[in-house]
Parts: sequence; C-alpha cells; structure tokens
Amino acid sequence: MKDENCIFCKIANGEIPSKTIYEDDDFRVILDLGPATKGHALILPKEHSANLFELPEETAGRAMKLAKKLGEQMVTNLKADGLNIVQNNGETAGQTVKHFHLHLIPRYKDDGQNILWKPGEVSADELELIKEQIKG
Ligand code: 5GP
Ligand code: ZN
Repeated sequence: MKDENCIFCKIANGEIPSKTIYEDDDFRVILDLGPATKGHALILPKEHSANLFELPEETAGRAMKLAKKLGEQMVTNLKADGLNIVQNNGETAGQTVKHFHLHLIPRYKDDGQNILWKPGEVSADELELIKEQIKG
C-alpha cells in the first residue's frame, strides 16, 4: 500500500526521481541527499510501512539480505574501510521520515563521523531485572 503523503513512497515507486543504485519489484535503493559519508544509501521497500514494527517479516528479511549484498559492493567499489547499518524507529531514536528504511553508511578512516554511542554503566542486579522485563 502507498501513502499519498509519504515522500519515500513517491521516491521508491519512481514518482520522484532519485539516484538509484539498485531496484527490483519490492525495493529501491537510493543515495541519501544529506550523506553522512560518500556513498550513504537508503534501502526503501516500495510498500509503505511506517517503521520496523509495521514491516512484514519477510520484507525485513529481504532488506537485510540486500544490505549484505549492496554493503559488500559499496565497500569494495568505493574502497571504504567499514560499513554502518543504521535503522531508526520513532522520533526519539532519530527517525525523520516515517517510511521504514535501512541506512547503509560506508566508513572511511578519519571520515569525521561518530555513529557509535557513549557506553553507560549497569549493575548485575539491573541487568537481571531488565532481562526479565524484556522477556515479559
Ligand atoms: P531518518 O532520520 O528518518 O532515519 O533518515 C532519513 C534520511 O533521509 C536522512 O538521512 C535524509 O538525509 C534522507 N532524506 C530525506 N529526504 C530525502 C529525499 O528527498 N531524498 C533522499 N535521497 N534522501 C532524503
Ligand atoms: Zn511511504
């Protein structure tokens, strides 16, 4: 299903042009217009899902397979030193476009980006509690 107000629906389905590095019946992979690094790309399913929670399981699996294939291709052909795969859900987590997408971010030595987090601290008791909370 397409969402008429969704820019990534329009891009994924070719209504708005984009620099496409891969396309099949279900996905379009495009270059990000505000790239973190050279080659930063976005894997877009053509069907609209707002986020990971709404995404059909099968599409989630295929998106990760594509990330592997294209990530390897990008690292080889752009001579990158590494790759971050980032996927944001919800504004608090940094999601700005409410159509599921996977970021493929090639990394280069001294590229000036910092996509990692600041490690926190946790006690053994807290870890035990959190483990049980998550299992529900
Ligand atoms: P989010 O913050 O939702 O995880 O990522 C949204 C990404 O989409 C950002 O990296 C932003 O630069 C990119 N973006 C937003 N609008 C457009 C657009 O119209 N075209 C392309 N190619 N990228 C876009
Ligand atoms: Zn959409």
